[in-house]
Amino acid sequence: MKKILVVHYDEIGLKGKNRSFFESALVSDLKKRLKESSVKNEWGRIIIYNPEEGASEKLLFTPGVSSFGVGTSFAKEDFEKIKQFAIDIVACEENPESFAVRAKRVDKNFPKTSQEVEREVGEAVFEHYKRELPVKLKNPDLLIFIEILHDKILIYKKQKGLGGLPAGVSGKAISLISGGFDSPVATYKMILRGVTPLAVHFHGMPKTPKEAIEKVKELLKILSLYSGELRLFLVPTLVAMQTIAKSAPEKLRLILLRRFMMTVVEEIANKEGAQAIITGESVGQVASQTLENLRAVEQATSLPVLRPLSGSSKHEIIELSQKLGMYDISAQDCEDTCSLFVPKHPETKAKLDEVLKAEKNYPLQELIQEALLQTEKLTIKNENF
Ligand code: ATP
Ligand code: MG
Repeated sequence: MKKILVVHYDEIGLKGKNRSFFESALVSDLKKRLKESSVKNEWGRIIIYNPEEGASEKLLFTPGVSSFGVGTSFAKEDFEKIKQFAIDIVACEENPESFAVRAKRVDKNFPKTSQEVEREVGEAVFEHYKRELPVKLKNPDLLIFIEILHDKILIYKKQKGLGGLPAGVSGKAISLISGGFDSPVATYKMILRGVTPLAVHFHGMPKTPKEAIEKVKELLKILSLYSGELRLFLVPTLVAMQTIAKSAPEKLRLILLRRFMMTVVEEIANKEGAQAIITGESVGQVASQTLENLRAVEQATSLPVLRPLSGSSKHEIIELSQKLGMYDISAQDCEDTCSLFVPKHPETKAKLDEVLKAEKNYPLQELIQEALLQTEKLTIKNENF
């Protein structure tokens, strides 16, 4: 009996004309991840033959996989054998509390209906386990899935995947990564919307420690388990900070620094073909994230600014950060670029005209060009991708 994995992608199924584009994106992503397995697209489901070791764990990190099954396939005339296989699936589980069998028939000429298949296989399992494992149709502990295709029968245990859209189908966006809790979580959410993030980090070296950059790399390493390898742009920011500090009102510093960041990344975006900017901002979370301040910062760029966490509470963000294994990295205490720069009494309701006036007091374009010239480019990979 040969093991197979069956991948489903319902959100893609909703997308009418885009369907085949999304399907082939998912197939080629899976082929990249599972180089030693055979990935085939058959009748709206992706079947992985001869799956390599660790293949099903990899599916848990693949955007666009709504659910997947671990099981096998039988010839049509071997219908009786699937009953024993269903019994074996149950035996491999640790104390399941309930089960259900669900069947789908693509081949309408198969002599049994889906319901008959469900009933027969369900009964075989029920009797085998001495009627002690109850059938539960809604949210069973263990879901056994049977698909009658034209050329074979698939049977597998179904489990949930990440969902979302396949990696990269939405194109590229610049992601502003600080090393804190929010921006990596924001980036994760956009990866699941098919966005390929180009990470940009502004550092204050040599005034900020090397560790701040290492933190960003570690976080990106986790994110690249989902997205595949990620590019990172490290932009030196110390000169800009010192210039802004010298020439602008203290309370506007942070807003002016953010505007500098927006303008720098717009140039990177134009060069790299990125269509938007992602930040980890959440409305009202800190003084710099009032609507007035968001507006004063966003005015510096013509690109759409995506803030997937704008409506999330810190609690929700921290919970996701923990789930993704990023919390301990983000929590490491180290001075970052902005903490070096936070004014004692930051502006909470910036007025755009005041901000624009303050910005005229220093050579913004020169600062940007200099920073871009000194920008370092790296690629971050994860060996478990
Ligand atoms: P985070 O948890 O992501 O650090 P935060 O709550 O500390 O966010 P801010 O410091 O106001 O909030 O930063 C808001 C957003 O600006 C961040 O989520 C990030 O997208 C971006 N950002 C801040 N500092 C940097 C930096 N040094 N390099 C790149 N992006 C940054
Ligand atoms: Mg921060």
